[in-house]
Amino acid sequence: MNANEIINIENKHTSGTYTKQTLVIVRGQGASLFAADGTEYLDCSSGHGVANLGHAHPKIAEALYKQASTLITLFETFPNDQRATLMEKLTTLTPGLERVFFCNSGTESVEAAIKFTRLSTGRTGIIAAMRGFHGRTMGSLSATWNKTYREPFVPLVPDFSHVPYNNIERLEKAVTDQTAAVIFEPVQGEGGVYLAEPVYLQAARRICNERGALLVLDEVQTGFGRTGKIFAYQHFGITPDLLCCSKSLAGGIPMGAVLIGEKVKNLIPGAHGSTFGGNPLACAAALASVTAMEEEHLPAQAAEKGAYLMEKLKAIQSTKIREVRGLGLMIGIELKQKVAPYLKALQEKHIIALSAGMTVIRLLPPLVISYVQIDQLVGSLEEVLMGDILDE
Ligand SMILES: *Cc1c(COP(=O)(O)O)cnc(C)c1O
Repeated sequence: MNANEIINIENKHTSGTYTKQTLVIVRGQGASLFAADGTEYLDCSSGHGVANLGHAHPKIAEALYKQASTLITLFETFPNDQRATLMEKLTTLTPGLERVFFCNSGTESVEAAIKFTRLSTGRTGIIAAMRGFHGRTMGSLSATWNKTYREPFVPLVPDFSHVPYNNIERLEKAVTDQTAAVIFEPVQGEGGVYLAEPVYLQAARRICNERGALLVLDEVQTGFGRTGKIFAYQHFGITPDLLCCSKSLAGGIPMGAVLIGEKVKNLIPGAHGSTFGGNPLACAAALASVTAMEEEHLPAQAAEKGAYLMEKLKAIQSTKIREVRGLGLMIGIELKQKVAPYLKALQEKHIIALSAGMTVIRLLPPLVISYVQIDQLVGSLEEVLMGDILDE
């Protein structure tokens, strides 16, 4: 099948819910992706933050092969060596969060967290942030802010409300004795790469404690080294009651997890479940992935490379840039105009990057990206942002 045939078949049979590119990707290696004709692209998207370890990591491939020929599927009622080892490994990374619920995606981890907070508190109110993104199933979508995602599906789940991010006063007013949970991303990804201020997350922790609400952090995108720590909340000197993770948890294999603190009660048999949750194949992939992250010091790599990249980006003298911001290797370049033509121009220079909203270029490269590749990225960004692309 040649590239055009592949494109035509996908365009014919797609559900229609994705804007399809005209670039067929067939292989990956480290921070590189390869097109059907062999052309190499620098991946600065990591599949929206999935491939933190890069593509085709040998340790993940090996773990998958070994576990696939041992045991792929097992319902969580039966204990299993891979799952038990992963539970121990994950909970040692998150002191204070000793229990784990496994699922298969980011939105599922948020759904589980929402259910757990209602079950635990007997309350129904969920407070999320403006610009926040938590997924697209009905519960997570109710916590998501973007009206384009929400409005076609109303009525959503009742008792969700949104407050401005980083505004302590408004949060104080919003959290009441009816509030089950406050849910935030420590760095808002989809919403435009906005960082929580440390005092804000600390205040959120205090306010939840005072009012008997639970604090949920959605680290689906920020987790597993992306921001320079294994989890972003560890920059802020607080611990959430529930921590949602997914994306790069299992090295690219679909998996989600909620890590659960001691304040969360009433999680009894039958309260929640998942057919595929905690299956040995995904657990083996996650175990290999988290182990490789530790062995390769991925959080430290993200911190160092992120600082280097940030400094280079801030030195670009383009009048089109409004602001460069980020944490570790999660970086947003806010332009004064729409980013679509710039992303297209970057792709012509063999760089795949993302948007976050209309005006932010979002960079989420694999954390194994090399300094040579970072320089290539900066060079291409500079050319694209210094050139004269007309805003369409
Ligand atoms: C991607 C993302 C989700 C949703 O994850 P899916 O696996 O696509 O359901 C939820 N929260 C955040 C912060 C995300 O970045």
